[in-house]
Amino acid sequence: MAVKIYKGDLPADLDLGSVVAIDTETLGLNPLRDKLCLVQLSSGDDNAHLVQVDRQTYDAPNLKALITNPDVIKIFHYARFDMAVLKHYLGVDVSPVFCTKIASRLVRTYTDRHGLKDLVREMLGIDLSKQQQSSDWGTPVLSKAQTDYAALDVVYLHELKSRLDQMLRREGREELATNCFEFLSTRVALDLAGWGETDIFSH
Ligand code: MN
Repeated sequence: MAVKIYKGDLPADLDLGSVVAIDTETLGLNPLRDKLCLVQLSSGDDNAHLVQVDRQTYDAPNLKALITNPDVIKIFHYARFDMAVLKHYLGVDVSPVFCTKIASRLVRTYTDRHGLKDLVREMLGIDLSKQQQSSDWGTPVLSKAQTDYAALDVVYLHELKSRLDQMLRREGREELATNCFEFLSTRVALDLAGWGETDIFSH
């Protein structure tokens, strides 16, 4: 695994293909309060590209173009959070999307463990450390432990997607998954408008 780090934006000439794994690191779990610091991307070739965004301007035209490109599928694990952060700080609507957590909930009905670590362990047989999860992502110079951790959050998503796609097909739940992915932008708009804790469909 090679990890490339960029300041501010992706290089203009970088082609990550038609399916890109994305994750974000922030200063906390509240998208309205906790600033976006890092955006990780992978084309699925075992390498990761890390963008340390400018937290004053959030000016990243190449990154925004990729995120909004309708011909590029963006894979996330728990897209709801990353999409809210990307919407709030970069002002972009992410589309189209595949969320490995939603797919997992739709097919792995035999368990309630849908964390990335759980999926990677069960489906790929790899033990993922979550040690750096709550570290200071706002620091100007990230440690090797941080960049390795951040990279590992995106390099397995393509493989997970292909396993989960097989299971969605097997269980006849592809359309349900697609419809959930399409609804994500509305779920995110509700989150950012103050209905984060409310299940809008509940009685
Ligand atoms: Mn992460």
